[in-house]
Amino acid sequence: MLWRSLSILSLAAGTCFADGDMAFTVSMPQPANHTYHVTFRCDGLRGELQDFKMPQWSPGYYGVADYARNVANFRAEDAAGHALPWEKVTRNTWRVVASNAPVVVLNYDVFGAITFAANPYLGEDRGYISPSGMFVHLAGQLQHPVTVEIRLPPNWKQISTGLEAVRGSPNTFEAPDFDVLYDCPILIGNQEYFQFDVQGVPHFVAIENVGASVDRSKMIADLKTMVTAATRMMGEVPYKHYTFLMMGRGAGGIEHSNSSSNQFDGTTLETPEGYLRWLSFICHEYFHNFNVKRIRPLALGPFDYDQENLTNMLWVSEGLSVYYQDLVLVRAGLMTRDQYLAKMAAAIGNFENATGRHYQSATESSWNTWNSGSGVAGDRNTTISYYNNGAMLGAMLDLKIRDGSGNRKSLDDVMRALYRKYYLQKKRGFTDAEFRAECEGAANTSLGEIFEYASTSRQVEYGRYFALAGLKLDVTTEDTPGGYIGLNTRTEEIPPSELPTPAGRGGRGGRGGAPALRLVLTDAAAGSPAAMAGLQPGDRILAVDGTSATAPVLNDAITAMAVVGRIVLRVSRDGAEINIPVEVARNVKRTFLLSKADQPSAPQTAILNAWLSKSP
Ligand SMILES: [Zn+2]
Repeated sequence: MLWRSLSILSLAAGTCFADGDMAFTVSMPQPANHTYHVTFRCDGLRGELQDFKMPQWSPGYYGVADYARNVANFRAEDAAGHALPWEKVTRNTWRVVASNAPVVVLNYDVFGAITFAANPYLGEDRGYISPSGMFVHLAGQLQHPVTVEIRLPPNWKQISTGLEAVRGSPNTFEAPDFDVLYDCPILIGNQEYFQFDVQGVPHFVAIENVGASVDRSKMIADLKTMVTAATRMMGEVPYKHYTFLMMGRGAGGIEHSNSSSNQFDGTTLETPEGYLRWLSFICHEYFHNFNVKRIRPLALGPFDYDQENLTNMLWVSEGLSVYYQDLVLVRAGLMTRDQYLAKMAAAIGNFENATGRHYQSATESSWNTWNSGSGVAGDRNTTISYYNNGAMLGAMLDLKIRDGSGNRKSLDDVMRALYRKYYLQKKRGFTDAEFRAECEGAANTSLGEIFEYASTSRQVEYGRYFALAGLKLDVTTEDTPGGYIGLNTRTEEIPPSELPTPAGRGGRGGRGGAPALRLVLTDAAAGSPAAMAGLQPGDRILAVDGTSATAPVLNDAITAMAVVGRIVLRVSRDGAEINIPVEVARNVKRTFLLSKADQPSAPQTAILNAWLSKSP
């Protein structure tokens, strides 16, 4: 029922208090209708009003999902089944007029028709519970223990989750608090089940939709080898058990503290290349149990489930996980050195050939990822991927640390130190400065250049870093469509003190609450058309051929040049406005190749071997 009264809206919820049990029951009366039914019983409550909230996002997927919109048929009752009035007071908050009832029972439906790791899904043959999109919590009571009972449809046999089973209660699980509940997805259906142990710790593997021709025993053996290599590197198996949810349909994964949701096309495992790509993807989500779930920036836990949790350091949390996903496979003997170097060179090519690197840095990409509402970068022409770029920055950090420490330290030492110091001892995330300090301490030298690469769109000199391991980076070029001017920019908010008066210049933003933005030139590559035209770092680009300048406008103007032509940039410099014509040059695609240098020194060879060898 819906009960509307001003009194609910005008009263703030009193102190919510709960010292009794909190228990969910999830049933699936008609799975083909994509609708779960959820019952939540809260015992031991005190207070006139009780606020129940559903998270706005799922940790690991950096976009506001607005899960509350999937909830229907919400109702509240007391222990005797009397309806309690309620009102929706924010997008994701239901305020129940409990009138000091000690028990509130909620009933609601959750619709799930999207197959994705951050969304609940229910269909005729399987169900996947992304817990942030399924379970509400009592406001202010995230620390409260909770149980979940799953009522299986007929003929469904399996429940796979990182949650602890409650002894003596079939299909019932418990979490010590709601952070753990929200970190434990649940796969339901008739999936295959396997187990292996590493250092006595059980690892469960639930598999669905992978063709019968794929060798299960090889999959399990390779996962065990991968987990062994990763945990040996970190020096610890940090969980009591771990569950791999292997969902052989869809794409994308989400990491958790003792499980991972992995969606992939099950048919791709049938070729050696596809199998290795799968293993690398699984290793990425697995390695996250260290990097991001435990080793993490301050902003990434404890979480605020009501809004975006912004950080500059997804290039560390995601990018270094991309870096380690393959490095761990090399250490495990599952990927060869040549395969590794070929993949790294291809990643450099992808990054260098896309125009986004002229407009966005790794730290900006990290911060802005929420803007696209999808957890991934937006317009690929004017943004970069902190995954791809972060992995390259990880390699550069690792090589520089190895070189600076006389090959005695590596990025592994940084990861282990962050794990010990911040996760185990201080029990918190680290700041940007603390991460840098840990890296520079291991390198015994400044890593200013690499951190500048991370925070600007400056052209990276990869060759110098790979040379530290006796490798050379060769480049071949070929012409491709579009033009090139060699200019890098950043989009920044205009400080309020610099905003023109209301009647001032037009342009983007500044009205209706949106921040006013401006496009600032960060550098012009030496010898490039931009540099030849006299453009300078700090120039503010106001207009491109008479159109107000934004990164997409500038990019469109350059790429529209099928043949060489000219664009005119209106620029503000030192308080004056000037027009600067720029001759657009041909665009070239570059292909990179990493190979052994002709005569590497003994220290360079030692670094290469320490970096890219199978662990003994
Ligand atoms: Zn990731």
